[in-house]
Amino acid sequence: MKSLLLPLTMIGALTMPSMTLANDSVDKASLEKAHQLRDSALRSNLGYDIVESLTVEVGPRLAGTPADLVAVAWAEDKFKALGFDKVYKQPVEVRHWERGFAKASVTAPFPQPLAITALGDSIATPKGGLKGELVFFDSVDELRQANPKDVKGKIVYIDARMHRHLEGKEYSTTVAGRSIGSSVASKKGAIGLIIRSIGTDSSRFPHTGNMNYKDGVNKIPAGAISTSDAMMLMQMKKRGLPISINMELETRAYKPKTSYNVIGEITGSKYPDEYILIGAHLDSWDEGTGALDDGAGVGIVMAAAHEIKKLKPKRTIRVVLFANEEGGLIGAKEYRKANAKELHKIKLAGESDFGARNIWRFDSQVHPDNLDVMAHINKVLKPLSINSGNNKAGGGPDVSILPEKGVPVFSLRQDGTDYFDYHHTPNDTLDKINPTELAQNVAAWAVVAYVTAQADEKLLPLPKKKAK
Ligand SMILES: [Zn+2]
Repeated sequence: MKSLLLPLTMIGALTMPSMTLANDSVDKASLEKAHQLRDSALRSNLGYDIVESLTVEVGPRLAGTPADLVAVAWAEDKFKALGFDKVYKQPVEVRHWERGFAKASVTAPFPQPLAITALGDSIATPKGGLKGELVFFDSVDELRQANPKDVKGKIVYIDARMHRHLEGKEYSTTVAGRSIGSSVASKKGAIGLIIRSIGTDSSRFPHTGNMNYKDGVNKIPAGAISTSDAMMLMQMKKRGLPISINMELETRAYKPKTSYNVIGEITGSKYPDEYILIGAHLDSWDEGTGALDDGAGVGIVMAAAHEIKKLKPKRTIRVVLFANEEGGLIGAKEYRKANAKELHKIKLAGESDFGARNIWRFDSQVHPDNLDVMAHINKVLKPLSINSGNNKAGGGPDVSILPEKGVPVFSLRQDGTDYFDYHHTPNDTLDKINPTELAQNVAAWAVVAYVTAQADEKLLPLPKKKAK
């Protein structure tokens, strides 16, 4: 309280750097190297070259398909070519589902074609298509309230809208229509489901994505129409006449296949048994080439680790390319299970999976005693226009299941304003990635991993959460 009486400039001078960085948790030489690492990563095109290689030489890589295994082989070769000390893979059983053609149209009262795609894991429609009257809902919650007699024998349409946002905020609130809408609709007697794409674009590219049939429900086909078609449908609805649809989705389900988490390591020089885990997911949807989701993440973490290699980090840098994130964190769950006894050796973990735009904030979720290391990181990130954030990071989708086991995590938050314009569409392609912005990501990831790898204090597991 006393300091409040001092002039503002003096408070800064007295308290800022000396207080947060007092114990020298990271040695001076390492911090100097971290600045050089950041600047050399900014000048390198390696991250972009890796995404280009993955999207051009492998392309779409839906889990369980032959292309998924091509991606696994690509990842092993790439790790080896980049000189990682250890390269290995871990088997993961994944669903194998494939899409055929998709077609839909309004048949009455105003015939119009619709741009539609099947949701992942949807069953096919009968040959010749599924015909029915549409019944409209704004959200899956509204559908839950519906009287089954208004739904029975009809095709449910859910018009949940998502708007552009820096952090992609409305994704989590609108996605339920896609993930569980078909089960809710089926329980009320619907014969099919169509959703407005979970996306922020105005185009005729529909957005696919994962869905699940609840156990015991009668499976009904499910598709997403483009946001442009969604608008047209809503305009038709205003005219007050019943709207009939014909939708034809061809899909195939096969027996489960084996895929792999692919892992590359730069062995630590002082604490080889302690790991800094940086990850991305290797699988993608089948409609685009998975450049943003998650080729960019793959390029960022592989390039970041490669940049660190020449500095001989004290702790091991472990890059994990997770299998089948899109199917529901399938590779991550297997990783957690297979490494259950060793999770305490992971001293910090993060996943890059939100596109390729600039990072603007660094969040962590670490033990309070290790916040001084995060403060060092913040200082090195500052020239990249990255602000320091909070200590409540989630870590990224695949890594988000690790903090409950005590593993500290971090998030380098990217500008996601236009991420959901392209997400899960044929439009998720390499041309959306700006090499300069991608290099900013690589620089930031390299700094976080390297500085943490150099910390000479004990890196602690997260404190146990008090039982409620
Ligand atoms: Zn992703």
